[in-house]
Amino acid sequence: MSVSDNLNKVRQHIPSSVTLVAISKTHPVEHVMEAYNAGQRIFGENKVQEMVSKYEVMPKDIQWHLVGHLQTNKIKYIAPFVSLIHSVDSLKLLTAINKEAVKANRVIDCLLQVYIAEEETKFGLSSDELKELLESEQYKQLTHVRVCGVMGMATFTDNEAQVRKEFKNLKTIFTSLKNSYFPNTNSFKHISMGMSGDYAIAIDEGSTMIRVGSSIFGHRAYNSN
Ligand SMILES: *Cc1c(COP(=O)(O)O)cnc(C)c1O
Repeated sequence: MSVSDNLNKVRQHIPSSVTLVAISKTHPVEHVMEAYNAGQRIFGENKVQEMVSKYEVMPKDIQWHLVGHLQTNKIKYIAPFVSLIHSVDSLKLLTAINKEAVKANRVIDCLLQVYIAEEETKFGLSSDELKELLESEQYKQLTHVRVCGVMGMATFTDNEAQVRKEFKNLKTIFTSLKNSYFPNTNSFKHISMGMSGDYAIAIDEGSTMIRVGSSIFGHRAYNSN
């Protein structure tokens, strides 16, 4: 199957209200261009350097999403063009993004990454940490970042009930944050959850944005998570 066939297959399974982010990490520009030529305009990368290299050579109407762990000293390379950062897991990082956004003279959209899995390896904020962040004075002074929702990764397991439970939990957390902190903020609307192996469950549980890599581009040559 070609990239465009794969892409069309994924599209058939998702409602139009769900945004598809094509995760192109590790895949060469020629393959990513196949998806572009099939109409895909939103791509996600998990490494700053790789995203910048692709941004430089690919068409400029692409929206680039960063989905991986972000180091503060690398924000400056993506601040001028990144469209959404899914992986904000501390006030320190959000503050550093704000600082680079000021320099780039733009407002950068971000999602707060929430820890929902049982694995110790997954990054993200707990419910208490989310509350603490959003109620802090420091957060309220950030003028050049816009928090647009939450992102989460479920445990890597065949246990569908487990995955469903974790996605349900993320939806509950989103709703609670929406009610408490963003009741009149239309831009706070995203629940980024669901990957190749679990996006159907995620959509079932209220995902608005899925991040799909291998189902579109095939398996990655190496594991860059
Ligand atoms: C790689 C990656 C994905 C895509 O994973 P697939 O299983 O290939 O669909 C989604 N989200 C994040 C954060 C990733 O790093």
